[in-house]
Amino acid sequence: MGAGGQMSNDPFDGKKILERVPVDPPFSLSDLKKAIPTHCFKRSVIRSSYYVVHDLIVAYVFYFLANTYIPFLPAPLAYLAWPVYWFCQASVLTALWVIGHECGHHAFSEYQWIDDTVGFILHSALMTPYFSWKYSH
Ligand SMILES: [Zn+2]
Repeated sequence: MGAGGQMSNDPFDGKKILERVPVDPPFSLSDLKKAIPTHCFKRSVIRSSYYVVHDLIVAYVFYFLANTYIPFLPAPLAYLAWPVYWFCQASVLTALWVIGHECGHHAFSEYQWIDDTVGFILHSALMTPYFSWKYSH
């Protein structure tokens, strides 16, 4: 009431919302691709396989540590340790899922059959469909 009824209830101060949003993007998708170095688009089955093996080893180490040591913790600490383990393991398994996902985009190697084989194995191990996702994604 202090403003004497002259205050506006319009949070955009009279401007239409489309006037506030840039209509033309500042760059195109091709501009973005040109800005990325070309070596980033080269597929390497060795480098890609390294990430699969790396993540599998990390997942196994988390599994081993959790199943070896958490059962011996006193109850209050175990109740805290299991969720921490679940979070860490889920992060690593999500990384493996992402690698399988990229196989569906033919980003794992130069060979489609390798991509499909690795993607199918990773997604099946994580109980997610590979080929139905690949064709519908
Ligand atoms: Zn995708």
